[in-house]
Amino acid sequence: MGDIRRLHNERVIYGKESGLRPMDAEQLRENGHKMVDFIADYYKSIENFPVLSQVEPGYLRELLPDSAPNQPESLQQVFDDLQAKILPGVTHWQSPNFFAYYPSNSSTAGFLGEMLSAGLNIVGFSWITSPAATELEMIVLDWLAKLLNLPDDFLSAGNGGGVIQGTASEAVLVVLLAARDRVLRTVGKTALEKLVVYGSDQTHSALQKACQIGGIHPENCKLLKADSSTGYALSPDLLSEAVSHDITNGLIPFFLCANVGTTSSTAVDPLLELGKVTKSNGIWFHVDAAYAGSACVCPEYRHYIDGVEEADSFNMNAHKWFLTNFDCSVLWVKDRNALVQALSTNPVFLKNKASDANMVVDYKDWQVPLGRRFRSLKLWMVLRLYGVENLQRYIRNHIKLAKQFEELVAQDPRFEIVAPRKFALVCFRLLPPHRNEDFSNKLNHNLLDTVNSTGKVYISHTALSGKYTLRLAVGAPLTEERHVNAAWKVIQEKASVLLSEFGMNGVS
Ligand code: PLP
Repeated sequence: MGDIRRLHNERVIYGKESGLRPMDAEQLRENGHKMVDFIADYYKSIENFPVLSQVEPGYLRELLPDSAPNQPESLQQVFDDLQAKILPGVTHWQSPNFFAYYPSNSSTAGFLGEMLSAGLNIVGFSWITSPAATELEMIVLDWLAKLLNLPDDFLSAGNGGGVIQGTASEAVLVVLLAARDRVLRTVGKTALEKLVVYGSDQTHSALQKACQIGGIHPENCKLLKADSSTGYALSPDLLSEAVSHDITNGLIPFFLCANVGTTSSTAVDPLLELGKVTKSNGIWFHVDAAYAGSACVCPEYRHYIDGVEEADSFNMNAHKWFLTNFDCSVLWVKDRNALVQALSTNPVFLKNKASDANMVVDYKDWQVPLGRRFRSLKLWMVLRLYGVENLQRYIRNHIKLAKQFEELVAQDPRFEIVAPRKFALVCFRLLPPHRNEDFSNKLNHNLLDTVNSTGKVYISHTALSGKYTLRLAVGAPLTEERHVNAAWKVIQEKASVLLSEFGMNGVS
């Protein structure tokens, strides 16, 4: 009787043919299998899609209704729309022919971890809200810190520790806020307008955004020139001069963001020497290794973060090149109290015995939002289901493929390598006829557009010393040698067409 009434109520609430109930384990099983099948089929056929979506802005509004349906629709109807309307507007980041920006890895282990995180769906802002979430995050980030051979100061056993942020932008923001409040506690809150931040002009715009949010005077976010003479790395002498100059002028240097693997060209700043400058001037030293940090789990690439022992904080995006589905940006600090002092709040409704007794880490005090997902599950599963040796092999293979691509470019006299390759990014361009830079920039811009409009490959661009530069980053999990070779073929073919239009075809 009771069951019939419950069934009746459900029908009233969700309709007779309602399809999905808010939570029903058997429905989840059935539909979850269908969804996994859909995604597995997607990966199997991913090469059939144009890598870069070819739709025009606003395309979707024409295809979808103006308002949400009153009555439930079936999962099949949604799948049909996904195929017909959504997938054409998707750029396929997991395609083996995706070489743009930096990779954003998915993997079977990362995907399963993401599923698990969605399934448990906890909100782990304080230890008490899910002790395992906090404790697993601490343990897994200690594992990863050890893999990267970070100094013990970054481990959770001492005063430091790791935390998973959504993105590198959030990572640099929270440490900038920690550094800002640390210095303001000494010099007084009214000195905010005198605080100065440094980075090279190759530093990701995330630093500028952090300054905007942190109330740093725009003129005091100083991006020092880094050009080809230093391989686009920040010169410690330049930093030292800028710091002295600013101190003389009554300003207060307080934060440096150095790079290991810049976005444009994977430049690596000399951490050890920069660290000497920051140490002698009481400047917080943050290292942004969002992309290249992953490579440093291989002993032969670890030297790129030599000098990290001088840093106050270090960040890498496991969601870029470490097989962990987006989002999972890992930040380590030496002094977790600095973060907590800048970011903690303690409202009465969150009070609990463990927090009050100061026995636990409450990650809400290490980040901007209160709520947080159980993201460490993804990283834990990636580390466990692949193991360190496979992860190293994965990175090495991409670097090998990038090296092969670099050699192909170098063999074609119509092209040049614009910046030295360190990891799996190759920066190159079609050479300008008669060294006409303006023309070259247009030519390479055209080349990028024509290559990407084929849908066979997706590469991106940057500017290095005023040169419009093409970027090919190997790093998608499905990419093999044949994809890299095919990408080069498309680039060569399109270059030949463009050059012949200008009556200047050379060797191909
Ligand atoms: N730092 C570097 C070196 C990057 O390459 C990027 C993005 O590609 C970022 C920071 C910003 O990344 P996020 O999207 O995680 O904020």
